[in-house]
Amino acid sequence: MKKQPYNSFWRLGRPEHNTQYYSINADGELVINEGHYQYNIHDLIKKYGTSLEIVLPFVIEQRLEDLFDTFAKHSYLQKYRGKFSYFLPLKTNQNKELVLPALSEGANLETSSANELWLIRRLFEQEQFNPDLRLLCNGPKTVSYFSLINDLQAKGVNVIPIIEDINELEMLKVYKGEVGIRVELGLRINSHWDKRVGRFGLVANEILKLGRIRNLKILHYHIGSQVESLKDMLTAASQAMELFIELKKANPSLDTLDLGGGLPVPYDQNQTFTLDQFVSKLLGRIKKMADHANLSHPNLIGEWGRYIMAPAQMSIFQVVWDKKITVRTGAKSWYVIDGSFMNDLLDTWAIHQKWQIVPVNNANSKKLKKVWLAGSSCDSDDKYTAGGGGVLLPDLDSLEDKQYLAIFDTGAYQDALASHHCLLSSPAKIVLQDGKVTVARKRETAAEVGKMFGW
Ligand SMILES: *Cc1c(COP(=O)(O)O)cnc(C)c1O
Repeated sequence: MKKQPYNSFWRLGRPEHNTQYYSINADGELVINEGHYQYNIHDLIKKYGTSLEIVLPFVIEQRLEDLFDTFAKHSYLQKYRGKFSYFLPLKTNQNKELVLPALSEGANLETSSANELWLIRRLFEQEQFNPDLRLLCNGPKTVSYFSLINDLQAKGVNVIPIIEDINELEMLKVYKGEVGIRVELGLRINSHWDKRVGRFGLVANEILKLGRIRNLKILHYHIGSQVESLKDMLTAASQAMELFIELKKANPSLDTLDLGGGLPVPYDQNQTFTLDQFVSKLLGRIKKMADHANLSHPNLIGEWGRYIMAPAQMSIFQVVWDKKITVRTGAKSWYVIDGSFMNDLLDTWAIHQKWQIVPVNNANSKKLKKVWLAGSSCDSDDKYTAGGGGVLLPDLDSLEDKQYLAIFDTGAYQDALASHHCLLSSPAKIVLQDGKVTVARKRETAAEVGKMFGW
């Protein structure tokens, strides 16, 4: 492929930004490359309209392969004897078109609620997973959640509830399968979710006082999401490993350390550490501590949701309005889009999520301007200003030009958080795989949205 200056301008083709799948073609249009197959987004828009979500299962497959390869490589190099397995946290993205490709790559599943587990029971009833699949159940075990856990366990599924509370320990006293326990490490990390008072799991001393826990297999922790410091990731692992070593004395069946989630996505910024660096250091540390305590190396579980899922979806909108900003700011205009940040990309509002945004057409335009984006709800909070500095996009001479934009890395959390403020319709959703396009969800009609509100 001829090198295009616009690729580097828009930071495309770079693995460190998860944009190795994208490039700008000779017409200045954004294309997605799946191996040697190419999808032109502008053409897809002509067929499917906007607002549009584009799902890329091949991205998940590649990311999981890379994850498994990285663990295999460093296990080999460092003679780490424990096994690594991946559990997809369903809460990151419950859409079937993304979950099934993960299963096919060897992912196990982690649930956070009864309804998520119910989806898995459906898969089981349809004989869509093999008996090697393991399930971890986090979150408060309500009566319906607990009865689904028991039901699946009785059917021979390897379902492992994680004890998060003393009451759950009581409930699980008669449970026949293996269990895990969650420790609240009390480590304060640098992340959006700097929870000063944890409410998940038990603190280390509480766990040690429990003595022997029936069928204990896993020690689990989860320090938070989008953890941008390698040091925090490693400190958490060391702290958990210290507890693992103590806990193992009364619980010889304990053989797995579950590291939870937290691997970050370089949304609009530079990557702070690579997977390779993390895995290399992680295995080195755990091995050293295990060897020192004369224990076999624990099996390891990763539950990195955002890291695997976010790059597998992008959101596409049309600019429907160019409204001049008359006061002095970082931007010249509002570009109003035919979707909503508050509805379709809620983290923009909730945690001031930043995004990488690239024009779908006119990406070779020499005339660019800084704009702020506004959603088409009538809420003044429905906007994206990139922290005030604005987003660089083609300057429209007239709206006849129809400008489209792509927001990358929207595959984690946004769909389940989505809502219907001002009764706007959710975007349509298409799946690109093996050169084929399938419609996963049509755009909602007014009648369908009205129905949710009893009309
Ligand atoms: C949310 C969650 C995850 C996934 O976190 P990411 O930040 O998306 O990696 C993993 N494990 C548990 C228990 C969670 O609650």
